[in-house]
Amino acid sequence: MKKLFLIVGISSIVLSACGVNSDSSNHSNTEDKSSTEEQSNGQNNKNNQKNEQPNIKKKDGITYVDGHVFANKKVDLPSDYAPGENRTARTDLNQLIQDARNDGLDVVFRSGYRSYEEQEQLYNDYVARDGEKAANQYSAKPGKSEHQTGLAFDVGSNKATDDFRKSFGNTNEGKWIKEHAHKYGFIVRYPNGKENITGYQYEPWHLRYVGKDLANEINKQNTTLEEYYNYGM
Ligand SMILES: [Zn+2]
Repeated sequence: MKKLFLIVGISSIVLSACGVNSDSSNHSNTEDKSSTEEQSNGQNNKNNQKNEQPNIKKKDGITYVDGHVFANKKVDLPSDYAPGENRTARTDLNQLIQDARNDGLDVVFRSGYRSYEEQEQLYNDYVARDGEKAANQYSAKPGKSEHQTGLAFDVGSNKATDDFRKSFGNTNEGKWIKEHAHKYGFIVRYPNGKENITGYQYEPWHLRYVGKDLANEINKQNTTLEEYYNYGM
């Protein structure tokens, strides 16, 4: 009997989380517009409250948490989701890189948008090279990569000696990124010590665009997207 109640409870949560939002494309909408529309279904979205029940919507197989596209090891993106690089995010990344250079640092763009097929190829290559277990520590399976959202970027430096290594976090460039990324709307998506939550090793080079408000809040709380929304863990 108890079990039955539990099942009914869970399925109603899942159902209510599947509302359709007609305008969640992250491509050409301004942030103002989409956040106004997000709030139109009777729920107050406050990006400054941790662990509040997030507003979860699914559309065409894509999961939006308070309007933010969600992708991790437990939340997949559909194979036909191909939004391309998000222009707002790229503009803000370029500004970040420019400002870092103005501060005398050597920060460069390394990679950005990857389609499902490109991720599939990359992942298969890693598995062939290092084996599946090792590959899963640093590479996402197709459909689980944030790079498919067009909102994730990898940065490095011209020296490249610490690129795509944890040691990047100890370089002046890595330290600058950690300290300043949120001002440009980015979070270091896979922080040190959060491996059991994000499912990935520390990646001081991988930035995810979430907009300035949320990036500020996540930075201030020293937390992760999963913990902030209490979702996808
Ligand atoms: Zn990355």
